[in-house]
Amino acid sequence: MGAARDVFPDVPTLKSRLKEKRDYRMRFRDRSASATIVSPHGGYIEEGTSALARACAGPDFNFFDFQGLRLNDPHELHVTSTRFRDPDLMRMLAASEVAVSIHGMGDEDDMTIWLGGLNKEMKESMLNALREGGFLVNPDSPRHRGESKLNFVNMAKQKGVQIELPNNLLKSMFVGPRRFAPNGRCIKTTPVFDKFVKAVRQVVHAEKRRMKKLAQASGHSNASTPTGTTAESMK
Ligand SMILES: [Zn+2]
Repeated sequence: MGAARDVFPDVPTLKSRLKEKRDYRMRFRDRSASATIVSPHGGYIEEGTSALARACAGPDFNFFDFQGLRLNDPHELHVTSTRFRDPDLMRMLAASEVAVSIHGMGDEDDMTIWLGGLNKEMKESMLNALREGGFLVNPDSPRHRGESKLNFVNMAKQKGVQIELPNNLLKSMFVGPRRFAPNGRCIKTTPVFDKFVKAVRQVVHAEKRRMKKLAQASGHSNASTPTGTTAESMK
């Protein structure tokens, strides 16, 4: 969702004015993986994205989830992706080849997923995998294109893909009105949820295999700098 009405300009300001565990919390798993899956507006902010990011990360990819815990006016805890920074997230991104961010975009579309981000190849793979999974996808959306280098999703070595899900599609992925439970209670999901997770995981797994092959072809000493790609030092 847009940044125009963000209450907090950045995460440190948010942290300084709100209380952790009452208003917000962060969950992450650093698995030294090739991909980092992120829900920066999880919890009640873009409700449902926490569960999706966790499931897409599964047991093998890095996972970062910022959860807004306020039921009232949850969007007040929205910090836009070009300003969203957290030390744990930054560390995982710098060590990852690719990133995927999962967002809810409200009612800007009915059922069509909008894809953005600067990793054009992975974006294309994501488009195909999601369409094969039966989803409507717009890879050339009017907004939320995620093409700023400052968007955290583009801070993995090979940049990333930003996925925006409309509210009606999110609704179809969950059973019942709630898509987030702060007490960790299991939220019931539908086969649409599973299809989405399967498509995303298929793409990040394929990316991982592709990177491995490239690394092997170039002499496997520099897994992070495949042939033909300009290496940017993240150190
Ligand atoms: Zn968002």
